[in-house]
Amino acid sequence: MKTIIEPFRIKVVEPIRMTTEAERDGVLRAAHFNTFLLRADDVLIDLLTDSGTGAMSAEQWAGVMRGDESYAGASSFFRFQASLRDITGFEHILPTHQGRASERILFQIMAGPGRVVPANAHFDTTRANCEATGARAVNVPIPEAADPRSRHPFKGNIDIPHLEAVIQEAGPANVPMVIVTVTNNTGGGQPVSLENIRAVRALCDRYKIPLVLDACRFAENAWFIKQREPGMSVRSVRSIVREMFDLADGATISAKKDGMVNIGGVLLLRDAGLVQRAGELLILTEGYITYGGLAGRDLEAMAQGFQEVVQEDYLAYRVRTAEYMAERLLKAGVQIIEPAGGHAIYIDAAHFCPHIPPAHFPGQAVVAGLYRTGGIRACEIGSVMFGGTLPDGTPRPAPAMELVRLAFPRRVYTQSHFDYAAESIAELFAKRATLRGIKIIEAPQALRHFTAKFAEM
Ligand SMILES: *Cc1c(COP(=O)(O)O)cnc(C)c1O
Repeated sequence: MKTIIEPFRIKVVEPIRMTTEAERDGVLRAAHFNTFLLRADDVLIDLLTDSGTGAMSAEQWAGVMRGDESYAGASSFFRFQASLRDITGFEHILPTHQGRASERILFQIMAGPGRVVPANAHFDTTRANCEATGARAVNVPIPEAADPRSRHPFKGNIDIPHLEAVIQEAGPANVPMVIVTVTNNTGGGQPVSLENIRAVRALCDRYKIPLVLDACRFAENAWFIKQREPGMSVRSVRSIVREMFDLADGATISAKKDGMVNIGGVLLLRDAGLVQRAGELLILTEGYITYGGLAGRDLEAMAQGFQEVVQEDYLAYRVRTAEYMAERLLKAGVQIIEPAGGHAIYIDAAHFCPHIPPAHFPGQAVVAGLYRTGGIRACEIGSVMFGGTLPDGTPRPAPAMELVRLAFPRRVYTQSHFDYAAESIAELFAKRATLRGIKIIEAPQALRHFTAKFAEM
């Protein structure tokens, strides 16, 4: 088979400022070994996140010019609404400024003290917003999800018997919703099968519990279903996407992912009473229900972006990028979560640095090393992100894995950028014994990875 090419040409370019390893060492120390505290100008290849970092298409930029900035009832809102109705089948479409705003509203109206919210895996902001209402966020992934080497095709799946046990233990009345995150970001960008979503739906029906999708990467998930699930290859991504949403009572979406925009979010609900309350909270803190804290031009960019992301040439290229990186890293001996995720590659930091225990943050040590060696910015997803204490002061349970995520901005980097990144990671792996543990100097209680200060041991 021939190389799968980037299905676009480049019309605008941004220069990358070259740096030396010595320069980067100084910059890293000044940023207290936290890559979130770096200046973007000091980064060569920025794989910190795929969130809001993508390149927009010419049609999206055309939409930006068309943006109707009327306060209420702007034509841009109606284009956004029509596009989202077309893709998701939901009638009520609320815009928000990003995914966590949708989450905050959702949890405020549905969760609360004493309640339990199970999910295949809660994303960091999802967990934080859930816990902020006093509810408990519980992960019930299939056991294969915790084995980096398992090549289960749908490692994002929920463990159905475990989910049922959690529901029974909490009492169905105390479970306000079950969340299915597609794809499972914290567990390796792994997809959830349609069969699994249907099984969660059936269980939710039995206990009269709403099913909510955290649908940030709904299109990548649908592509994996088309590729991997028996009988699905003949279906279009669009029809698979529609079935995924049809199975849900609600969804939160960060449009900064598969919405293909730099800012934006969506909250979808079917129940008229919940839509009413969500709209009231939206007006209270985000903005009027036809703009949700965004400019009209942002709504236009989303209207177009949600249509572009289900194009199958795009998805083939998108998922191939991650697969290509996975092949190169595995060949160099670097253990990653197999198979490759949709939007990112996750390095198994415990395997990378067996000499650094979880308490000394092997993931953060690899993140620091990648920046120093190659100017590559990555993100720890392990004991830094998920450690620390709960709001009541008790320690959080240890995460199942110590990971470093290399997330790929959409339509931004070319194959040679990825080649360079793979070479730098292999170089660091060869000298991994020189990596040292990391300790926390200063950290806030919630979402500490964003602002914590570290030092090398
Ligand atoms: C990014 C993300 C969110 C939060 O969205 P923001 O736009 O960053 O607020 C929630 N869930 C998942 C799975 C995500 O990847």
